[in-house]
Amino acid sequence: MENKRVRVRFAPSPTGGLHMGGVRTALFNYLFAKKHGGDFILRIEDTDQTRYVNGAEEYIVNALKWCGIEPNEGVGFGNGPHAPYRQSERKELGIYRSYAERLVASGHAYYAFDTAEELEAMRKRLEAAKVAAPQYNAVSRQSMKNSTALSEDEVKKLMDAGTPYVIRLKVPRNEEIRFHDIIRGWVVVNSSQVDDKVLLKSDGMPTYHLAHIVDDIEMKISHAVRGEEWLPSAPAHVLIYRYLGLENEMPQLAHLPLILRPDGQGKLSKRDKSGLPMFPLNWYDERTKESYIGYRESGFFADAFINMLVLLGWNPGNNQELLSKEEMISLFSFERVNKAGAKFDPEKTKWFNQQYLKNKPNAELADLFAVKLKEKQIVATQTYVEGVCRLIKEKAHLASEFWELGAFFFQEPEKYDEVVIAKRWNSSARNFFIKLAEIWSASENFSHAVLEEKFKSTASENGIKPGEVMPLLRVLITGLAGGPALFETIELLGMAQTIHRLQRALHELPE
Ligand code: GLU
Repeated sequence: MENKRVRVRFAPSPTGGLHMGGVRTALFNYLFAKKHGGDFILRIEDTDQTRYVNGAEEYIVNALKWCGIEPNEGVGFGNGPHAPYRQSERKELGIYRSYAERLVASGHAYYAFDTAEELEAMRKRLEAAKVAAPQYNAVSRQSMKNSTALSEDEVKKLMDAGTPYVIRLKVPRNEEIRFHDIIRGWVVVNSSQVDDKVLLKSDGMPTYHLAHIVDDIEMKISHAVRGEEWLPSAPAHVLIYRYLGLENEMPQLAHLPLILRPDGQGKLSKRDKSGLPMFPLNWYDERTKESYIGYRESGFFADAFINMLVLLGWNPGNNQELLSKEEMISLFSFERVNKAGAKFDPEKTKWFNQQYLKNKPNAELADLFAVKLKEKQIVATQTYVEGVCRLIKEKAHLASEFWELGAFFFQEPEKYDEVVIAKRWNSSARNFFIKLAEIWSASENFSHAVLEEKFKSTASENGIKPGEVMPLLRVLITGLAGGPALFETIELLGMAQTIHRLQRALHELPE
């Protein structure tokens, strides 16, 4: 068991877009697999056809690709030795039914013929009797229509008549179920808390409980790493492995902590209003007609997004916050995953992106920016756009802010910041800028150092403090009160454009 090859799976149900909690589960699986030189599998758990959403599977595959969390086996990533990896297709293999029948044969599962109405009547009866958690279990099954309560003859008759039936797990009435979770330690639950779960539905489809166990066995999964919401059904799963005589084959369990809302009040919902996306990519749900904005489309970088996610519930054991994927892999362990929920922090998320943005090569940023510039029908050289990116990246959290921050590099100002103008524009400032334009245009060198030096000397020759005209200089050139390093900005704009802008401002601003 201990020496089993590491094989983990991410097993989403295609019931919607993959939200960031799901991405984190995939990420932890991926990191663990890579760390141990193991396999990471993508399995699509689509046995609940009523909840199937078109496009969800494709979305999951694309989201994992964008995030760089690539499985080496599974749907969308090339088949491996355990194909197919979609449960609806695996059903055709007959494996789920055969495992369910095996449990029936050994007396650990049974056929149940109850109709929806009969189940509803049972629930009402138990509620009326003040049973705390009304469920199909060792007690209530005795008064229901199933092969534990009916005679063999009656069962045969129902079967022969083609009566629809499900197969249910026969959970003992009062037994301790004990299992180990790598993150939570030992968990002990009494079987009276566990209901007789349906394993195979009347249409022959397995439920999640049966299907994932069969597949984990067949696919030789070593660790089942999933969200905390699956912890309550783990005791039933332990029983299934035990009754199949495969307890030794059971993957080690790791239930990841919840991701909490920024205020810590409950689980982060996909409709969270913190202003940041909850999904990696834009997602439109055909069924509910809801659209969700993605991190990618909001100008986030996949590596920054992943870096933020990895720290939701895990830490590298020191205060290091910026981690490359290689560092995440080498430092990852479940021992450093917390039991307690992890708060999602929108500000910190933006901070991560800013850090990554600052460190991105200008050429890469320019390629991103080029898309927006094209949309605006702006033509500029690659070198110029790279220069712009070098200057504005210091000010940006997101690549999507580039246009707002850097439009003035491509367009003359439409207006001049009114506050600065009202406060500082006067005739001596006007005279200063007339002189400055002359001096700069006569300069052979238009480097930022020379520009700055000439700016200062012109100011002092005119008895003006540079600090008084500096804010005006920025406004005359860019229209804005704030922005990137000013003399570098001017150097990049170049002499012709700078002098043109100064003269235009002198013309437009009041005498
Ligand atoms: N299909 C389940 C889900 O949607 C998988 C849970 C598991 O990993 O066992 O999350």
